[in-house]
Amino acid sequence: MIKLLELTPKILKNKSLSDKDFVLIAKEMLNAYGVGDVKIKVSTRKNYKNLAEYHYENKSVIIYPSTLKNINKFLLTMLHEILHMLDHKKLKDKFITQYEDELSKADTAGTGYYGNSFEARAEAFAKKEVQKWIKKYL
Ligand SMILES: [Zn+2]
Repeated sequence: MIKLLELTPKILKNKSLSDKDFVLIAKEMLNAYGVGDVKIKVSTRKNYKNLAEYHYENKSVIIYPSTLKNINKFLLTMLHEILHMLDHKKLKDKFITQYEDELSKADTAGTGYYGNSFEARAEAFAKKEVQKWIKKYL
């Protein structure tokens, strides 16, 4: 369980969050959406292109605190990855083949990242849900 009293003053003072803070928030978010058994890992890698990644092959989410400059971006990224986890939970093994089909369709059509409907939906979900979390933490 997240200790909000511990966390909130840091956010209000606009201090940077520690790795532990990111993990606590991530845990609470995963629980709230009932994604099931997904592990949270923290990477120390710096200057990496992604903020967080869901690895469906071993059901884990890796977060990169050094690239996560602020809580807003972190919340959006986690919500985006959470929709992938929920799709995975719903579609089970079919998730991987369907995701890869979408990826190659988007590639062929030249529609880019959001030409993949899984990515477009994840982004829309994140934008819709983020206000709830901003209210909670900011
Ligand atoms: Zn995605």
